[in-house]
Amino acid sequence: MMYKNTVNIIGAGPASLVAAIVLRKHGLAVKVFEMSPDVGYRLSGDFQGVENWSSERDVTELLGEIGIRINFLWMPYYEGTVYAPEMKPVEVKSGRPIFYLVRRGSMPGTLDWGLKEQALSLGVEIIFNHRLDNLEGKAIVGTGPKGADAVAVGITFNTKMQDKAVVVLDDNIAPKGYAYLLVKQGYATMATVLYREFKKADDYFEKMLNFFKEKMDVDIKNRKKFGGYGNFFIRDKQTRNEKIYIGEAAGFQD
Ligand SMILES: Cc1cc2nc3c(=O)[nH]c(=O)nc-3n(C[C@H](O)[C@H](O)[C@H](O)COP(=O)(O)OP(=O)(O)OC[C@H]3O[C@@H](n4cnc5c(N)ncnc54)[C@H](O)[C@@H]3O)c2cc1C
Repeated sequence: MMYKNTVNIIGAGPASLVAAIVLRKHGLAVKVFEMSPDVGYRLSGDFQGVENWSSERDVTELLGEIGIRINFLWMPYYEGTVYAPEMKPVEVKSGRPIFYLVRRGSMPGTLDWGLKEQALSLGVEIIFNHRLDNLEGKAIVGTGPKGADAVAVGITFNTKMQDKAVVVLDDNIAPKGYAYLLVKQGYATMATVLYREFKKADDYFEKMLNFFKEKMDVDIKNRKKFGGYGNFFIRDKQTRNEKIYIGEAAGFQD
């Protein structure tokens, strides 16, 4: 089939795939160039939370409105626990989901995999193993973070713990950042996110592990370590040299 216009998108992260799905639904041809052999290569099967407090409307409804189907793990969490130094743990509860739990990575059930399937079923062309750095002309750039405003180090593991969400705000565990534990049906993710002292990330990881072991009955099986980094500061401009920057390439995160 011939399409009047083809939109080129660089990177096949969630921002790019959502853009591709929306544009394709509006009748445009879409080509996505991804440097990795598949989607989700930057992540490790870890849980993430899609926050639901940024808008008056529920994020599930907003996704539905732009034509995104929920064909991935998408679990509402209505409560969680916050730890901070010199404070009793605070139980946070809400009548509407505080966040939605998703899994990230290159395997079935992840956000990345689900969005890829939706894009492909609509006829979006995804070209893997194709790094693009200097594309001439118009394009959408969804290449994720460049450099690190924050560094994360954590583990995924199997556990007998009940489902839970825990956040820790403590400079001794995550300098100027936060640590978290997310458990869903016997699988868990625990990580510390540092905004300072990146070189000591492994030390802070050990401190976080000890913290969780001390505060709750954490049993850990099949642990797999992962790391990552992120850009948290929105750029002054989202357009440059005929390119539109989206997602974390534009500084949008959390
Ligand atoms: C450990 C960790 C935990 C996180 N937890 C959360 C959380 O709980 N909640 C939350 O909202 N966010 C979280 N984030 C951030 C979240 O993962 C990112 O904000 C999100 O993935 C960004 O999506 P994106 O589509 O902008 O970019 P990405 O997901 O980074 O995708 C960019 C894609 O572009 C590709 N690419 C890059 N350069 C090129 C190039 N030159 N040519 C072709 N392809 C290229 C990459 O291979 C990648 O596939 C976390 C991040 C990490 C690392």
